[in-house]
Amino acid sequence: MTALRVTEIFHSIQGESTWAGLPCVFVRLTGCPLRCRWCDTAYAFYGGTKMEESEILTQVASFGCSLVEVTGGEPLAQPECRSLLRRLAGERYTVLLETSGALPIHDVDARVRIILDLKCPDSGEEQSNSWQNLADLKPIDEVKFVVATRRDYEWAREVARDHDLPARHAVILSPVWGEMDPARLARWVLTDGVPFRVQVQLQKVLFGPDTRGV
Ligand code: SF4
Repeated sequence: MTALRVTEIFHSIQGESTWAGLPCVFVRLTGCPLRCRWCDTAYAFYGGTKMEESEILTQVASFGCSLVEVTGGEPLAQPECRSLLRRLAGERYTVLLETSGALPIHDVDARVRIILDLKCPDSGEEQSNSWQNLADLKPIDEVKFVVATRRDYEWAREVARDHDLPARHAVILSPVWGEMDPARLARWVLTDGVPFRVQVQLQKVLFGPDTRGV
């Protein structure tokens, strides 16, 4: 039987992808090998509860919601995550996976929509990016850059250009909450005329920046 360590399962509003605004069930897996400077889910680094895959599926089903996101921590840090994603996709949910981009995605079920969170320099984790992942993305996948500074913005702009990302994927810029002024970021995008989606973390706007599990 497959078991995973889970920090929380909850029903909320999608806040950080092109699916933003929709009701969604979140499965937050425990553990992450990275330490982004601005991480807002450090509570998922340790602890959690060991749950059988079937138990997770039952809890997800109890919300009666067709959109499910597996997130973390870094969900792919638990090898069993791939099996969970396959089972969820097999149950006909629309399945999103939010991953740091540090771990391989080539063996993730092709029905799963990946939100690849590339790490900009001022996250302190730029060296963790696995560039092979960009080649392994499918057209339905999205790329997100969490931007803390002008340096991060310019880095994201260059990576997107060098890999021709906007032609193949939705590219999202998300300002670090409380650190990067969203309007400033939006002006840079407008000035440069780049086809990026500037997106604030909707769940924090709706429920407050420190609220968990809503
Ligand atoms: S990858 Fe995600 S969970 Fe891990 S430290 Fe970075 S922001 Fe936090």
